[in-house]
Amino acid sequence: MKYICLLAFLSLMACQPAPSESSGDKAPNILFIMTDDHAKQAISAYGSNLINTPNIDRIASEGMLFTHSFVTNSICAPSRATLLTGKFSHLNGLRDNRDEFDGGQLTFPKLLQEAGYQTGLIGKWHLKTKPTGFDYWQVLLGQGEYYQPRFATDTDTAVIEGYTTTVITDLAIEYLEDRDTTKPFCLLYHHKAPHRNWMPDVDDLDLFNEDLPEPETLFDDYEGRPAAREADMRIADMYLSTDMKLHKDSYPGLDNNSGGAGIGTVVDREGNWERIYNRLTPAQKQKWDAHYDPINADFKANPRTGQELVRWKYQRYMKDYLRCVKSVDDNIGRVLDYLEENDLADNTIVVYTSDQGFYLGEHGWYDKRFIYEESLGMPLMVRYPNGIEAGQVSEALVQNLDFAPTFLDYAGVSKPDEMQGESMKEIMTTGEDPTWRDAVYYHYYEYPHGWHMVKQHYGVRTDRYKLAHFYNDIDHWELFDLEEDPQEMRNLYNSPEMEKIQVELHTQLAELREKYQVPESGD
Ligand code: CA
Repeated sequence: MKYICLLAFLSLMACQPAPSESSGDKAPNILFIMTDDHAKQAISAYGSNLINTPNIDRIASEGMLFTHSFVTNSICAPSRATLLTGKFSHLNGLRDNRDEFDGGQLTFPKLLQEAGYQTGLIGKWHLKTKPTGFDYWQVLLGQGEYYQPRFATDTDTAVIEGYTTTVITDLAIEYLEDRDTTKPFCLLYHHKAPHRNWMPDVDDLDLFNEDLPEPETLFDDYEGRPAAREADMRIADMYLSTDMKLHKDSYPGLDNNSGGAGIGTVVDREGNWERIYNRLTPAQKQKWDAHYDPINADFKANPRTGQELVRWKYQRYMKDYLRCVKSVDDNIGRVLDYLEENDLADNTIVVYTSDQGFYLGEHGWYDKRFIYEESLGMPLMVRYPNGIEAGQVSEALVQNLDFAPTFLDYAGVSKPDEMQGESMKEIMTTGEDPTWRDAVYYHYYEYPHGWHMVKQHYGVRTDRYKLAHFYNDIDHWELFDLEEDPQEMRNLYNSPEMEKIQVELHTQLAELREKYQVPESGD
């Protein structure tokens, strides 16, 4: 065993510079912070009118904020697979949440390990198979719970009492505390929050009690966008139980699953909310009930319907979502403080992102999946005092495809040919990269299986335009001018004034599909 390790070490020494503590050019640590479903609209660094996130904003103001960061496939597990492999879904094998990740393939944590890094993973994983490429991992089972979460390690599973966002942070700080200080670290610190069903910390329940502004498109009519019309992700259809946290006797005679648009296709399992609620400890329940009992009583006395119900659900949804984000922000502040107190801040690349964006009522929706801006966009900010000047903003069209090549570049490891992304190091170091791409490719697959009935589609987004093709049981194109119509309400496909642009976008789309080796059939 020792012999094999030595051989591996020698071959490593021969082909790439190993990080050295003694050299003046110390390999940077990497702290990759990722949340689940955190929209840019709920981050003050992006100008949110909903919430103030001072700790996440610190990463941006002390480093670089990316305004045009996009996901390749806007759904949890596929986004994570692309992050690890630097490859699109059709090549890493994880097209939708039903697929299992092939942990045998090349990932950036494996290459960092070979290059002398200690690699850790704490929190959400969601790729079904056991994590590979990590010296240590401790991950939530499946989607994870908001309270008393169940965790798995390589050898054990355990329930840890507490609020999951705080528990994950405690574990991440413990990992840093116990690390081998002779090696650089790469820690993936991944939150469950603010994923559905948005259960806040009981100590944050008194926040956001004023009504929040509604998005202009809350009552979108979906004209010219048939796939949008048929998608089952309207706020109108959110569950009165699991999403709204009403107990069954608070909505007698109403269907838990609808009351709004009535197109809900996935019914909340009987007793699901009671099971989730009953995870709370007696002390947590006391605080929970003090807040939600009056809401239950109010809805029972004044059951809403129609547009009034949509507005009520929007407020309930948003308040719980934002409270979850508040806890994420507080806990990220704890980790940033830890880095500073332990003299790690200057040489640690801190990335903040989310596995994709999310709808906060825009187009009448929650959830993600579509190529439209709110779910295509990912928050992204990076702080690295030793290598990134503070206070920069980049408009480069970057993707989650680029994380793996970027980390490898910083670690002095050559990008393997099979990785399709590009290193963002030049952009981060100098503010721009003249060779950077001028368009990004997107592809969503989960239909007609799974949740939310969003049709399969692919498309291209440039700095100004977007062209998308919905296929499978439909053959429909959409084109948007994001400068004139940032909310994507007017489909301009085949409109005379777009003739030339449309041809150019088709060419760009075809070139990207060829470059990224997308099979002709779409799949
Ligand atoms: Ca997600």
